[in-house]
Amino acid sequence: MAHSPSYRRFNTLLIANRGEIACRVIRSARAMGLRTVAVYSEADREALHVAMADEAVLLGPAPARDSYLNIGKVIAAARRTGAEGIHPGYGFLSENAAFAQACADADIVFVGPTAAMMTAMGSKSGAKALMEKAGVPLVPGYHGEAQDDATLQGAADRIGYPVLVKASAGGGGRGMRIVQSATEFAPAIVSARREAQAAFGDERMLIEKYVENPRHIEVQVIGDAHGNLLSLFERECTLQRRHQKVIEEAPSPTLNAAQREKLYEAARKAAGAVNYVGVGTVEFVSDGKEVFFIEMNTRLQVEHPVTEFITGIDLVEWQLRVASGENLPRTQDQIVMKGHAIEARVYAENPNKNFMPSVGRITTWRTPPEIDGLRIDSGYRKGDTVSPHYDAMLAKVIAWAETRDAAIGRLARALDGIDVRGVVTNIPFLSALVTHPEVRANMIDTGFIERHLKELAVMPPAPGEIELAAAVAGIMQAESEASRKDAASPWRTAGWMPVGRRQRKFMFRHGQSEHEVTLVYGNGPSQLRVGDTNLAFGFEPDETGDLTLSLDGMRSRVVSVVDGRDVYVRTRNGRFELRWVDPFGGDDEEQTNEDRIIAPLPGIVVALLAVEGAVLEKGAPILTLEVMKMEQTLRAPYPGILKAIRCKVGDIVQEGVELAEIEPAA
Ligand code: ADP
Repeated sequence: MAHSPSYRRFNTLLIANRGEIACRVIRSARAMGLRTVAVYSEADREALHVAMADEAVLLGPAPARDSYLNIGKVIAAARRTGAEGIHPGYGFLSENAAFAQACADADIVFVGPTAAMMTAMGSKSGAKALMEKAGVPLVPGYHGEAQDDATLQGAADRIGYPVLVKASAGGGGRGMRIVQSATEFAPAIVSARREAQAAFGDERMLIEKYVENPRHIEVQVIGDAHGNLLSLFERECTLQRRHQKVIEEAPSPTLNAAQREKLYEAARKAAGAVNYVGVGTVEFVSDGKEVFFIEMNTRLQVEHPVTEFITGIDLVEWQLRVASGENLPRTQDQIVMKGHAIEARVYAENPNKNFMPSVGRITTWRTPPEIDGLRIDSGYRKGDTVSPHYDAMLAKVIAWAETRDAAIGRLARALDGIDVRGVVTNIPFLSALVTHPEVRANMIDTGFIERHLKELAVMPPAPGEIELAAAVAGIMQAESEASRKDAASPWRTAGWMPVGRRQRKFMFRHGQSEHEVTLVYGNGPSQLRVGDTNLAFGFEPDETGDLTLSLDGMRSRVVSVVDGRDVYVRTRNGRFELRWVDPFGGDDEEQTNEDRIIAPLPGIVVALLAVEGAVLEKGAPILTLEVMKMEQTLRAPYPGILKAIRCKVGDIVQEGVELAEIEPAA
């Protein structure tokens, strides 16, 4: 016999999720004095959410169905850790009525609505029928039981094209097709059914009039178990790609005050129709004037922070209070809106390769400090791995200001100040998107991104003087740090710094092109020669690790991260990945035609790879130097006989010292 869930106090909360949302929930739960339990898969042993929680339970292998989606394992983890409450986050089991019921059956508080409320809203068709009864405005359409081809085609013809065919069980834009004319209808329904069957195990379809120039506008609602229900203003999420939200903002810049009031009214009616408990979102499609109900999501949404910013409410805290059986802390007229907030979703994906997800280890993760009006919700840090098993969202950047324009400005600046390496991200795409003049002017619809893809997928420009100077500064800085940290470092050896003027050549590769820079230093101010230009050059690190570069009297803040021979540079012109070409022939570099084997940089001899008298092919390894914590093998520049080795393992050698001698083959 199924128990009915009771909302009551709990001390330990299990978060049945991962990534940024698990971290987000843990933060609020902890602030409320709750003990937190994380769950994780084998792929997430080292994940941030696991490190943050008080306890963590391994669910199983990486695939979600064996871990995060396995209801039995999640319930068992709660039992084992004494968790009396479960927060499902979003995605995974958050809208799974069977899971809500399993929690109730196990006498665990599910932080969300009841299974019955979820079921009522879970089918788009069912929800629409319910909304029709409650007097909520709907898009003209068909959401009946009969699913035969003739009925569906007849309905589409009656509604008038274009129509949108949608999977009743749908989500994430799957099982959805725009149909422009009657002749396209039959094939569209076949493929939409197939997709819906595969994704949801349910091929039932509904048909809606396709709203022209559609905008997505949604209302945040929250209800408690005592019959109180509030609407917390709206969000506009019109910037989408493949029906998936990319940028979300609150309030909607599109609706006027009267239209807004009508919208809140409709949303409260919608949630009221099921006596909704918990946070939820009532979604509407709009032509810019009218709004039409499309569905209700019975969970916390990814974009909830924009609502938190304009209301000052911690939605997770309110969720947890409601689940504990408390009354909502405020009444409708105590909910006030202030300013404007906008969020961008940062994904590990490549906009220049059709948004292909990118996986791998994050080697650099730097985000700007969270000043007033800037919030960064992230689930990753340096050293973490982005796994192919889960959603590729890395973080959300949310900005608030008094006006929409100022909020966009703050978001753009924050995006420009993020450095992520190891995986490709959509950050440059997001920057281009939020600063696009038509986005700033709110001249958008849900097809905007698709139509402007070319403009938005920015290709990195070629590095100029400032980028090359930043790269040189980064290398010099890394070398001086290495010398400070390591007492035995060759850089400490007195005497390697030459007296008098000296030159050091740097070669950088960027894509197919090579760029040479010469640093002239020693006695007096340094100079950088780029092409025919000589520039006065200097740099200074600050406490955050950024560099202030001065180049011919101009001072610029730049970022320069040296990682072996890879140099990442971020300047006001964008982000650049440069390869510092090894002048003496590293593994993938060309050999130079030097007739001596000399130390390209100060280093330590860590291995001798050939013996005196050995016959060497061109490119044969002779010895390995450790330079800046990176090993570098010096090779024979031409075939010959190894006449002499002038060093031994452990030697600290200075730049320019001859290490071996080769007699060229006749
Ligand atoms: P899913 O649950 O798969 O996300 P939704 O029904 O929420 O599907 O719709 C996803 C997106 O498709 C909406 O945000 C909206 O932009 C667009 N959309 C939905 N219905 C319509 C419609 N009738 N006309 C135009 N666009 C629509």
